[in-house]
Amino acid sequence: MSKQRIELDQVVREEGGKREGYLRIGRKPDGSWVSIPVIVIEGRAEGPTLLVDACAHGDEYEGAEAIIGLAASLDPSTLRGSFVGVPALNYDAFCACERISPIDSTNLNRIFPGNPRTFVTQRVAYAYTERLQKKADAIISFHGGGTVLHLEPLVGYQPQDDEVGRRTRELAQVFGTKVLWRMQNLPFEGVAAVEAKKLGIPSILPEIGSHCGRLYDRRKNIELCGAGIVNVMRHLGMLEGKPEPRPEQIDAELLYIHASDGGIHRLEKGIMERVKAGETLATVTDVFGRTVSTVAAPYDGIVLGFWSLPVIQPGDWSYLYGKILG
Ligand SMILES: [Zn+2]
Repeated sequence: MSKQRIELDQVVREEGGKREGYLRIGRKPDGSWVSIPVIVIEGRAEGPTLLVDACAHGDEYEGAEAIIGLAASLDPSTLRGSFVGVPALNYDAFCACERISPIDSTNLNRIFPGNPRTFVTQRVAYAYTERLQKKADAIISFHGGGTVLHLEPLVGYQPQDDEVGRRTRELAQVFGTKVLWRMQNLPFEGVAAVEAKKLGIPSILPEIGSHCGRLYDRRKNIELCGAGIVNVMRHLGMLEGKPEPRPEQIDAELLYIHASDGGIHRLEKGIMERVKAGETLATVTDVFGRTVSTVAAPYDGIVLGFWSLPVIQPGDWSYLYGKILG
C-alpha cells in the first residue's frame, strides 16, 4: 500500500519510528539553508501515506500548529501507514510572517509543480512535488486567511470529473467543516492541490483561520484543523475509530471579489450572511469620509470571507463570496 519512503537530507532527531529533519534546497549567503522542515512518522502496520502541509503561504499558521501538535501525539505502534507533516512549506515566508517568499517575492501556491533550474521558490515547489507529493496516497494542504482575511472555515475539494475528484469530496466531507468549497473556475493556476489531482492523488485544501482568528480564537481554529486531520486519518484507516459525525454541510463555489478603489473598507455584511444580488457588501471611503466606491454582490449568495484590515488597496480582495451549489 505504502509508496516509497520519504528521504530527508538532514535528520535532526530520530526515535522509534519518528524522524524530524529537512529537505535542503540551496545555501543562503550566510551559509544557512533554504529548506523544508519535515516530520515523518512511520506506523508499525502497513497503510497509506498521508501528507499534511501548511504555510505554502507563510502567514497562514493554524494548520502548521495543528500538524506540530498532532505529530507530537501520534504513536507509531498504533498508526497504520505513514504521516508526513510539513508545518512550514514556505519556511522563509513562515519565519518572516509573510505570505510570499522574502527571497524572491514569489507566491508558492501559484507555481506548482515547480522548476529545479530557476528561482528558489520554484525549486521549493519542485522539491515538494518530487520528494513529498508524489509519494503520498492522500494530501491535506492547509491554507487560511493570513494577515489580511477573515474566513468561515471551509475545505476545498477538486472537480468531480473522475474518481480522484470524487474521493477529494469524501475527504472534505469527513474533515468536518460546515462549508465545502468546490474548487472550480479558479482565477489562478499552479495550486498544489490541483496539480495533485493530475498526478492521481486526492488532495483537499482547508481554508481555516484568519487575521481576526489569531486575535481571539486562534486556539479554536487550531483544534478544528487537528480534529479534521484525525477525521481524515480515521476515514483512511490509519487510526482506530470512526470520524466524528459531520455537521450539516453546504457546497459552494467561491468568487474572489476585488475592490476597484482603495480607502477605508467598511464591511456591510457579516460572515455566513445570506445576500441578494446587487446588495452592497462593502463601502470604500476616502480620508474625508466620502464614498469612493461600493462593492456589490453579483448574485444571491453567502459571505464566506472578507478583508479584515481597516484599509484596502485598489485591486485587493474585498469579499470571498459563495455561490451555494446544494
Ligand atoms: Zn493560502
